[in-house]
Amino acid sequence: MTTPSKIVTNDALADSEPHFVAPGLVDASGPEPRLVAGKCKACGALSFPKAVVCPACLSQDIAAAHLASEGMLYSFATVHQAPKNWIVPYHLGYVDLTDGIRVLAHVEGTPRIEAKVKLGVARVGTAADGTALMSYVFTPVA
Ligand SMILES: [Zn+2]
Repeated sequence: MTTPSKIVTNDALADSEPHFVAPGLVDASGPEPRLVAGKCKACGALSFPKAVVCPACLSQDIAAAHLASEGMLYSFATVHQAPKNWIVPYHLGYVDLTDGIRVLAHVEGTPRIEAKVKLGVARVGTAADGTALMSYVFTPVA
């Protein structure tokens, strides 16, 4: 686990660049995107999105930290009704990352329960200004 060097926020992006559904959750500054979580400095518990208060020990001393980029698909559903300009249908699933935390995410491709999945970033819709609306996604790997 490493400390994020650059967290992508919509404010930091030029108008012509894509917007993220939930800014601040993805560090796209390196060769591979990384999810940005919170790691409690008191007990080490992870939270995603980064919690203000540790759910395990109630400490408020929480640092940003990268999560693992691979995991296993725990469950998923196919969504047919979505906010305006989102691409439907899409798969929404829970992924158990290798570092022990479960995250909710878009799932690309053909999801299968217990499939090994890998983190990426993909277009999930169109923002109000016509630019791509992006999000972190997980894709099954062979
Ligand atoms: Zn804690």
